[in-house]
Amino acid sequence: MENSGDQFDAIVVGAGVMGSSTAYQLAKRGLKVILLEQFDLLHHRGSSHGESRTLRATYTEAYYAAMVMDSLRLWEEAEAEIGYKVYFKTQHFDMGPSDDKSLQSIIANCHLTSIGGVIKPTKAVSMFQTLAIRNGAVIRDNMEVREMERDDVRGGVWVSTASGERFWGRKCVVTAGAWMKKLVKRVSGRVRHHRGVVALAPYGGFPTFASYGEPFIYGTPSLEFPGLIKIPVPGGQGCDPERRKWAAPDPNALASVKEWIRVTFGDRVDASGPVMVQSCLYSMSPDEDFVIDFLGGGLGREVVVAGGFSGHGFKMAPVVGRILADLVVNGEARGVDLRHFELARFEGNPKGNVKDSEDQVKFSHSYEDEGTISAASPN
Ligand SMILES: Cc1cc2nc3c(=O)[nH]c(=O)nc-3n(C[C@H](O)[C@H](O)[C@H](O)COP(=O)(O)OP(=O)(O)OC[C@H]3O[C@@H](n4cnc5c(N)ncnc54)[C@H](O)[C@@H]3O)c2cc1C
Repeated sequence: MENSGDQFDAIVVGAGVMGSSTAYQLAKRGLKVILLEQFDLLHHRGSSHGESRTLRATYTEAYYAAMVMDSLRLWEEAEAEIGYKVYFKTQHFDMGPSDDKSLQSIIANCHLTSIGGVIKPTKAVSMFQTLAIRNGAVIRDNMEVREMERDDVRGGVWVSTASGERFWGRKCVVTAGAWMKKLVKRVSGRVRHHRGVVALAPYGGFPTFASYGEPFIYGTPSLEFPGLIKIPVPGGQGCDPERRKWAAPDPNALASVKEWIRVTFGDRVDASGPVMVQSCLYSMSPDEDFVIDFLGGGLGREVVVAGGFSGHGFKMAPVVGRILADLVVNGEARGVDLRHFELARFEGNPKGNVKDSEDQVKFSHSYEDEGTISAASPN
């Protein structure tokens, strides 16, 4: 007889924010869940650690604005369950040339979506993991998943780890971030190494902000380091997440951000140089839309994949977790149109969904020149 300690209703692979939120949602519905992470929990090698993520609902795509509003309610629900805060309200400020199409469409929609805020990422991931455990989930770290194979006799999936352990799941959810392609060849998209920089600013009512046009620049007030704001340096290159270069940002890109800060904020922000520089890892899909779908092929509807969060997924982790739990439990997701996130959009069409926002089109071209198919307008 099989060891029931190895048998689960759902196996979740990858304990970044998406996997942790999904494990919580599944466990809350009474499923027997295991969450497997290849490194230590709360490590710094993926995309979900650190001290600040912007929550804004000003999107050109209406489907994201709706998901952010749903997520806001779910962030507050999880905070009430755990008893501490991970989301802090701020003002949000969008700016850019008055004829910029993205900015115009954001202005047209913003009466429905005028919220902004900052989420503490490491604390938020830890919150989801704690809530998952409280609801009965098992979490194992230093468990790299190497293989997934269908159980042809009784259905479900066998998952094998580098340490030689095997687990059976009725369903499996893969939220492997930048490692997705290593584990699941069919998932499209590219992984790109992107460097962030933190510059000095007087914090105290400083908003989250996004500047449309070229370059697309966004920023977040730092809650961890009061007095600082975080501004990512545009650029970055494709990379293998196992062989990242932890190098300083390109001096020209850094200089252009300094100049942008000087021109935009004048004396309000000290643009003389970064106080801290951190290297970050984004996993970009070609159209910057998420990938949320059944894997198909030999693993059919037993495996659900969620990736390509393209530098703007954190704020929506609660709703992504709920969607993934719906797909596992019901085979479909309630109240959300997943067409934009299907894998099939790349079949015969490597660029995926068609967008007409100006900033995205420009960035896509520059990355194609470098031999990658990614676009940059994250946050
Ligand atoms: C610097 C930076 C700033 C950002 N700013 C914002 C922002 O302001 N607002 C916003 O909404 N979003 C933002 N984002 C995007 C957001 O943080 C990401 O979309 C989100 O964290 C992606 O989470 P994930 O769980 O998909 O990936 P990850 O966090 O990378 O998690 C994937 C996990 O899977 C594990 N894993 C992989 N392969 C295996 C395996 N084989 N076996 C077991 N485990 C495995 C990895 O170790 C990792 O822990 C930002 C991202 C970065 C990097």
